[in-house]
Amino acid sequence: AKEGSRGTAICFALEHEAQLRSHAVIEQALRSADLETEFSLVYQPIMDVVEQRVDAYEALARWTSPTIGKVSPGDFIVVAERSGLIRDVTRALLRKALADMAAWPMEVSLSFNLSAHDIASSACRADIKDIVRESGVAPDRIIFELTETGLMRDLVDARDALSELKGLGVRIALDDFGTGYSSLSYVHKLPITRLKIDRSFVTSICEDQASLNIIRAIIDLARNLGFSCVIEGVETTDQMLLLRSAGCRFMQGYLFQKPLPREEIEALSGVAAAI
Ligand code: C2E
Ligand code: CA
Ligand code: CA
Ligand code: CA
Repeated sequence: AKEGSRGTAICFALEHEAQLRSHAVIEQALRSADLETEFSLVYQPIMDVVEQRVDAYEALARWTSPTIGKVSPGDFIVVAERSGLIRDVTRALLRKALADMAAWPMEVSLSFNLSAHDIASSACRADIKDIVRESGVAPDRIIFELTETGLMRDLVDARDALSELKGLGVRIALDDFGTGYSSLSYVHKLPITRLKIDRSFVTSICEDQASLNIIRAIIDLARNLGFSCVIEGVETTDQMLLLRSAGCRFMQGYLFQKPLPREEIEALSGVAAAI
C-alpha cells in the first residue's frame, strides 16, 4: 500500500509539472509578467585560455513567475517567440545587461542571445540599435549570439538583418554550431565573427577521436574564414586540456564557472570594489 501511494504521488507530481510547463500556461503567465521584476540575468564567462582571462560574459535569462514559479529559458523562449512576446523580453533584458556592464572591466565583452524573431523585425532592430546607443557602451564590446537553426529559415533576410546590426559596430556569433542543418558552406555568407561549437561535440571527445578531429577541422576552417571559435560545455579538466592542445582558445562551461548573478561575478572578478 505504501509503495502504491508513493507511486500515485509521483504520478501527480509529474502531471502537475507537465501542466506547469504547458505552452498555454506559460504564455498566459508571460502575457501578464512584469518584465522588470520577474526576469533577471545570470552571467557565464567565456574564457580565453591563451591569455587566461575572461573574454566575455554571456547573459542568460532567468524567469520566476509569481503564478507558475521558475521557468527555464529552454521552455519560455520558444513560447515567447511563438506568441510574439520575445521582442519585449529581449528589449528589457538587453537594457539590463548593458547597465550591468558598467561594473565590468573594459576588456570584458557582453555576449547576448538574440532570437531570429528579434532581428527579423525592422522595428525591433531599430530598438536594439537605440538601446545600444543610449547605453553608451562601446559597440565593439557587444557580441550578439544567434542560433543557426533560427537563421537558416531565410538566409538572405538573415544576412541583411545581421549586416544592419553589425553596422552598429557590434560583433555577431553563430550559436550552437554543429546542430541542425549546419554547414560551413553557408557560414561565410553571413556577416559573423565568431562560431560557438555546440557542447554535444565536447561530451564525447575524451572517448572518441572522431569528435576531436571534427572540432579541429571546424577550428581550422573558422580560422581561415577569420572567425574566432568558442567551445561550449567544457566540464572537465581532461576535456579542457585536450581542446587546448587542439588549438581551442575560447571555452565556456561548468569547469570554469556556472552562470551566476551579477553581484557574484563582480565579487569574483574583483570589480565590486571599483564601483
Ligand atoms: P545557449 O545560448 O546555448 O546557452 C548555453 C546553455 O548551456 C545555458 O543554459 C547554460 O546554462 C548551459 N551550460 C553552460 N555551460 C554548461 C556546461 O558545461 N554543461 C552543461 N550541461 N550546460 C552548460 P540555459 O541558461 O538554460 O539556456 C538555455 C538556452 O536558452 C540558451 O542556450 C539560449 O538558446 C536560450 N536563452 C537563454 N537566455 C536567453 C535570452 O536572454 N535570449 C534568448 N533569445 N535566448 C536565451
Ligand atoms: Ca548562447
Ligand atoms: Ca549555445
Ligand atoms: Ca543552446
